[in-house]
Amino acid sequence: MDYGLNDKVAVVTGGSSGIGLATARLLLEEGAKVAICGRDQARLDAAVESLGDAGTADAVLPVQCDVLDADDVGRLQQTVEQAFGRCDVLINNAGQARMSNFYNTSDQDWRDELELKFFSILHPTRAFLPMLEAAGAGSIVNSSALLGKQPEPHLLATSAARAGVLNMSKSLSLEFAPKNVRVNSILIGVIVSGQWERRYAEQGKEGQSREEFFAEIATSRGVPLGRMGEPEDAARAILFFASPVSGYITGSCLEIAGGQARYV
Ligand code: NDP
Repeated sequence: MDYGLNDKVAVVTGGSSGIGLATARLLLEEGAKVAICGRDQARLDAAVESLGDAGTADAVLPVQCDVLDADDVGRLQQTVEQAFGRCDVLINNAGQARMSNFYNTSDQDWRDELELKFFSILHPTRAFLPMLEAAGAGSIVNSSALLGKQPEPHLLATSAARAGVLNMSKSLSLEFAPKNVRVNSILIGVIVSGQWERRYAEQGKEGQSREEFFAEIATSRGVPLGRMGEPEDAARAILFFASPVSGYITGSCLEIAGGQARYV
């Protein structure tokens, strides 16, 4: 299937690991040029190396950037403009969850979580919107979470922030539609990635293998398909929203959660 992304330019925030890196790989395979960003240079270097032949210097552009820093994001935009001259796709993917409930979420934790979830989308969207509009058919895809529609008390602030961001994404989809810039989100359940690898390292029981740990997570979360997702499961959905194949879809969400959503 031709996704119509050959020679298009995509920016993937948080493209140095997990779902973002898997998305960058798929976009490159489709012939797109891809800028990836993350805060850690070593992780970016390792990501480019892991892309192998697909990650040649003229196809992939690693840029150190904290999406919460507007100046950093401005530099990212200038670097992409200088290197590729256009931007057709923005994947707002950078971030991580905060595990805490009512009792152990401080005011500062709340502020940090709301800042991360909102400004990780607002800063890149503000910086890249003119290029997306100029591209003629721009696409913004947000990596979001099932938690936004199906909250969990042990992820209190993350759930609430994700719900707010889904609301914001709907407004942006309406505001940007006349510019032919689409805004869609994927709602991720549990997908094996950097943040889950770190949780295994911290919380895995003695002698418990990584596979056993992840299988236990899938069971405890009641994932109907019986497993955690792989980064590629989410990346394929992002590719769909990024591509002109979904050109008549905006303001929409797609659950990538193995059937975990309990609402109709
Ligand atoms: P990973 O930890 O594997 O990847 C996160 C990426 O985001 C890394 O490249 C990281 O690089 C980057 N990042 C984090 N904070 C910033 C920042 N402030 N500025 C720039 N880059 C940043 O996690 P996932 O692949 O799982 O996460 C991708 C997205 O999916 C996240 O938004 C996450 O919340 C969401 N999600 C994931 C779920 C899952 O089960 N995996 C569930 C629900 C949502 P660096 O640390 O070097 O900056």
